[in-house]
Amino acid sequence: MKAELIAPCGINCSVCSSYLAREAGLPVRRGKINHCPGCRPRDRKCSRCRGHGRINKVRFCAECELFPCEFLNRLESRYMTAYPLQESPIGNLRHIAKKGMRSFLAAERKKWKCPDCGGVLCVHNGKCYRCQEIVSWRG
Ligand SMILES: [Zn+2]
Repeated sequence: MKAELIAPCGINCSVCSSYLAREAGLPVRRGKINHCPGCRPRDRKCSRCRGHGRINKVRFCAECELFPCEFLNRLESRYMTAYPLQESPIGNLRHIAKKGMRSFLAAERKKWKCPDCGGVLCVHNGKCYRCQEIVSWRG
């Protein structure tokens, strides 16, 4: 897991279904399997700062004076409730701000490690793209 895969909002792109599908070479299937190299590799800054009418200058949303903004709070509640595995973007950002990126990445490697093969579990469907069959981003 790499620092450049931690998006400005605190989401770890390495556990996203679209990132994992691309890495695993799964064929794209409309609405089911998408491909994405990650937010930062696509040069995506915080997608909401423009909505706030702001020029995006922060590396992470925790550095923003509006943190945690309404968008981030909604993202937080979705990622804490809507998927089989929980992720806390705000918790991630606080970890990075307090203890640094190295400490965060070490915790993430442990948290998302597939117990069967050592691969990476997906936040969106709870599956391992190395040792389990993937039908769609939902499972
Ligand atoms: Zn596995």
